[in-house]
Amino acid sequence: MDTMPYKTTLFIGLLLVSPLLRAQQSDQDPFPVRGFCIAAPDRADLKTFIRFIDEELATRRVNTLILRVDFNYAFKSHIELRDSGALTAKEVLSLVNACKKHNIRIIPQINLLGHQSWEGTLNNLLKKYPEFDETPTVKMPADYVWPNPDGLYCKSYCPLHPGVHKVVFDLVDEICTAFKADAFHAGMDEVFYLGHDSCQRCAGRDKAELFAGEVALIRNHLKEKDRQLWIWGDRLLDGRTTGMGMWEASYNSTWRAVDLIPKDVVICDWHYERPDQTPVYFAMKGFTVVTCPWRMPNVAVVQADDMVKFRKTATPEMKDRYAGMVQTVWNSTSSFLKDFYNDSNDKPVETNTEINCFITLFKRIKTLGFPQ
Ligand SMILES: [Zn+2]
Repeated sequence: MDTMPYKTTLFIGLLLVSPLLRAQQSDQDPFPVRGFCIAAPDRADLKTFIRFIDEELATRRVNTLILRVDFNYAFKSHIELRDSGALTAKEVLSLVNACKKHNIRIIPQINLLGHQSWEGTLNNLLKKYPEFDETPTVKMPADYVWPNPDGLYCKSYCPLHPGVHKVVFDLVDEICTAFKADAFHAGMDEVFYLGHDSCQRCAGRDKAELFAGEVALIRNHLKEKDRQLWIWGDRLLDGRTTGMGMWEASYNSTWRAVDLIPKDVVICDWHYERPDQTPVYFAMKGFTVVTCPWRMPNVAVVQADDMVKFRKTATPEMKDRYAGMVQTVWNSTSSFLKDFYNDSNDKPVETNTEINCFITLFKRIKTLGFPQ
């Protein structure tokens, strides 16, 4: 070494040290992901939403924005699937630039597999391509009620239909390009219709294998362009054994898919009423996991504290899998923004609202410390 020129030695030294520096940086940051998840705004709310990014997300050092776009984009590959008044490429670019300014990573979402209808309304994919329906014999009711004799929560597409992925992947590719995204969120929560007896392709098949097959297919497609797949975690949890129930966990045996899907899928682990310790389960299975609260500030605070504790007490192998927190908003973006800016959110901070949860969670994250 003593014969090496100084610059070469320094260079080699930096090469050796830099992974260590990176590790130390990540150790100092208890929340590598400080996220916010909401539906993409309507065109009319675009300016207000960008104001929200500038004034509320950036100031709280939010660095990840999951935008549920679905069909609210003027797709060129499938014009027939656009919502009326969908965001144009130019409007999307204004969102992308607003986020770029603050180093916020946008992850666009289209619900794949499940959530192809809502209450009595079919969503665009099955409206235009009814042949993709997993349960063609289940008719959409005029007056939707839950529970109902069909067990209809949301429709699913058939993961084994030979034509469905051509259409769906066109949308995925186009939206990732439009949002300049290196990750895509496929939803995949609350899939109740899967391997249904009324589907000639899927009847009798193993539901965990069907679910895992669909996850792997989407993940592999994204991987071709070096993009990462994010999904909700509920189908990977055993609802009966854990007592977590049929919504935030699975009653239809899909939970065994946790051992069948690729480990580089990022899990958004949502629990809105209890701070369940499921991040430990996902991290031990090899997944990167983020915890997602909704409207209970007290639960979100415990979840944030837990995330810090998990990272502190983890083995080096697991530490970075505890990736952070993502606040979710399920109200329409229009109502959320109206409530936020019209001061109609005058309820005490401990009241359970999305706005209070958002404000309280990020106050807590600030207290728990950012990296310098
Ligand atoms: Zn099927």
